Amino acid sequence: MTPSDAGVPPSARWRDALVRPSVVGHRASDLHDMREANIALVLRLIRQHGPLARVAIARRTGLSRTTVSSIVDGLLSEEIVREGETLNAAPSGGRRPILVHFNESAGIILGADMGRTHFTIIATDLDARILARRSGPWDTNLGPDVCLPRLTAEIRSLISERRLDWERVVGVGIGIPGPVDATLHTLVAPPRMAGWDGVDVEGIIRAALNIPVILNNDTNVGALAESRYGAAAGESDFAYVKVGTGIGCGLVINGEIYRGSSGVAGEIGHFTVDSAGPLCDCGNRGCLEAMAGAPQLVRNALAAGYAPGDGAASGLHPNEIDNEIDVAEVVQAALHGDRACQSAIRGAGELIGVALANLVNLVNPSVILLDGSVARAGAILLEPITAAIQQRSLWAASHAVRVQVSALGDSAVALGAATMVLDAIFGSPVYIEHVAGDDDAAEAPVLGAASGATDA
Ligand SMILES: [Zn+2]
Repeated sequence: MTPSDAGVPPSARWRDALVRPSVVGHRASDLHDMREANIALVLRLIRQHGPLARVAIARRTGLSRTTVSSIVDGLLSEEIVREGETLNAAPSGGRRPILVHFNESAGIILGADMGRTHFTIIATDLDARILARRSGPWDTNLGPDVCLPRLTAEIRSLISERRLDWERVVGVGIGIPGPVDATLHTLVAPPRMAGWDGVDVEGIIRAALNIPVILNNDTNVGALAESRYGAAAGESDFAYVKVGTGIGCGLVINGEIYRGSSGVAGEIGHFTVDSAGPLCDCGNRGCLEAMAGAPQLVRNALAAGYAPGDGAASGLHPNEIDNEIDVAEVVQAALHGDRACQSAIRGAGELIGVALANLVNLVNPSVILLDGSVARAGAILLEPITAAIQQRSLWAASHAVRVQVSALGDSAVALGAATMVLDAIFGSPVYIEHVAGDDDAAEAPVLGAASGATDA
């Protein structure tokens, strides 16, 4: 835990250097910017490859030793790095080198999963280690005028309850269950989210908290977390599919989140699986989400004879049951052997499998990860999905794909949201590897490297 009294200056230069060029899309253009670009380059190198001696930093960045010393002294005073020996440095008679270490506890990153019926907020250090967590029920149907002030209040509560220091908070990432426009500011015609179309979520949260905000679709963010810390680590082409009230998909293609031309890629919930099927919230008929999403799954379980016990669904007409708390009961009942619930989940799995067979033919992923409340059913959902994929997609693609439940579960979206912010300020690991992973990069073009830092 970060002690709240250790005081980072509010105007810490490392934050100015990293946050402004990367989050705001700023490009280095004058001497002040060049100085900031060099601070960013040095700090990113230390974070990714440290601890390093000052002489090694100079060699790897191509900066002069004087410049490096001046930058490192500044970073030391801001406590974002510290100096010391390493235990395993070979003494061999000579002096042990003084190494510069990254201080991952110098800053706090916030990640928020603003789901339709549930929220999770985490605070992490600068190495994505979770320091604090807050979660609870949520209802996006209450609209942005209620939900956005509540989100900022929940964030403030998390910070104050855990005695974290606001001065150290660098930024917040938010995963949200709808299409986000290409600028990552605004929701675009999200189905099931009346009142949210065109709302500048990024701007409203930024104004309320006065910190940088990065918004993205929740499945894109979940995919990012799984690709970094979860079951898809190291996979360059995979799909992260969330099955709950809605059904959505985050796609990683060639190692990067694929957002499409206007940010809407991956909406498999609105794949047509029955052109004469029931009406969907998007206005079309027979969408996957309308036929296999949680509300319909609950209705199908009740129609098949499921009799809820003392749970929330008890005594309600099937049409009144429309939230994930109820589907969690159906999933639990299925896991305890209720045949009606198992049948409803298998039926949903068959339809989801049809949609994913099309996805497999189109994208040829190596892994499909299932997440969301319905994915907790495990094999009951996985088996019909896998069978449909093997039956309906070309063998050349289907034999290469592994289907499994996500590894990070409830934390995936919040952790991915925090990771978005970390990538925005420190660059993605791929980028750092390219710039600084090679000792031959002594002549690395520093300004070019800095302007490339807009990759998130
Ligand atoms: Zn639809």
